[in-house]
Amino acid sequence: MKNKYETSYNLKDRANIIKDVIKDSISAEMGIAKGFKLVSINGSNITDILDYKYLITDEYLEIEFENLQGEIEIYEVEKEQYDDLGLLFETELIDKPRNCHNKCIFCFMEQLPDKVRDTLIFKDDDYRLSFFSGNYITLTNMKESDIERIIKYRISPINISLHTTNEAVRCMMLNNKNAGKVLKYIDRLFEAKIDMNIQIVLCKDINDKELLYKTLQDVSKYMPMIKSICIVPVGISKYRDNLYKLNPIEKEDCLDVIENVSKFQQKFKKKFGTNLVYLSDEFYLKAEIDIPAYKEYEDFPQLENGVGMIAVFENEFRTEIPKLKRKITNLTKVNNDKIDIIMLTGKITYNYIKEKSKILEELIGNVNIDVRYVENNYFGTNITVTGLMTGNDILETIKGAHNNMTIVIPDVCLKEDEAIFLEDVKLEDLKSKYNNIVISETSTKGFIDAIYNISINK
Ligand code: SF4
Repeated sequence: MKNKYETSYNLKDRANIIKDVIKDSISAEMGIAKGFKLVSINGSNITDILDYKYLITDEYLEIEFENLQGEIEIYEVEKEQYDDLGLLFETELIDKPRNCHNKCIFCFMEQLPDKVRDTLIFKDDDYRLSFFSGNYITLTNMKESDIERIIKYRISPINISLHTTNEAVRCMMLNNKNAGKVLKYIDRLFEAKIDMNIQIVLCKDINDKELLYKTLQDVSKYMPMIKSICIVPVGISKYRDNLYKLNPIEKEDCLDVIENVSKFQQKFKKKFGTNLVYLSDEFYLKAEIDIPAYKEYEDFPQLENGVGMIAVFENEFRTEIPKLKRKITNLTKVNNDKIDIIMLTGKITYNYIKEKSKILEELIGNVNIDVRYVENNYFGTNITVTGLMTGNDILETIKGAHNNMTIVIPDVCLKEDEAIFLEDVKLEDLKSKYNNIVISETSTKGFIDAIYNISINK
């Protein structure tokens, strides 16, 4: 079939190749196959997933494909407005993700050792991923036309890595001379009623104290379009040679931030009916004070950024404990042999996990839980989260453990689809040295189930 429309872009440059076709979908019925290229819909070229999603909402479609022989084929489709075509593309965005144009002074990817998993080092800064995957973007690689697309397609919310509203400080922090002037895009998004979530990476003596308070005040002017503001402390690894000198956020700093941010929360609650600003759990854990109550996190808008995870854990713990008690009561066979368990965690959550393990020990009766934190020698001892524990550091922590001890490792420090740690050490390597290694799901239920199952199965 002859191409009916002018196609203005080079297909070779585009990732609009069909990777798969969903079974029984509209495209499967049309006979579209893996390897076809999507050329246009109703005469419009497809730049990316946003165009695609927008264009397929028409009820009548004329779709151009390039088939496996390189010929153009046109298909007519009549469908309901929101019916999907069932096409899966080579890349999620039908386009290359946009690279980050910054060199932030706090970028964790600049502070990684040489040999680290690839997935940790891709620096994207793509507004389309903000919408589809919840990524945070700096706005620095965006043009007016991108903002117009966001508004046209109603991409909402947009997650913005703001850090500060002080233009000069933002330029310095992001190492990008455009980082200040692009803040005007926030005004555009606000006027167009696009929801926004804001992230602030707090760097000591750079964007903290008065600058932070000013930033919170400035951002609150965009209410009600701001859905949340989260503040996370800068992570500092030991690989900072030739990088900007940053000081870690210490316990006293955390106490100060908590005290001052809570004043803003109270003020915002009164004015807007929401706390609006949330601190990541790390602040409270480091300050060694209680995590706010579950309800203070409202609808947990920034859980993915480590904001409210402990509150969720705590809440689930309260729900899971009665279930555990029932399971113990219903046991037909009681195992009275004492079982030794080593429970591994990051340093930041050590006290918390220890406290919960004590409760489980008392309830279950036959387990002795030795909670150990894994000192992070790989990234440096300032890194204390469980998710960045590595295989070799774990080996160091469990050195000398007897073979009759069961070692519990949370799955968050393993690759999602493979039993491999961050520095490419395999779980198998650990298992070859220690017989009893159990991987627990990183959740309250996973934690409780792991201990309970060990207690009954030994
Ligand atoms: S925006 Fe900054 S922190 Fe994020 S990837 Fe780029 S340089 Fe790193």
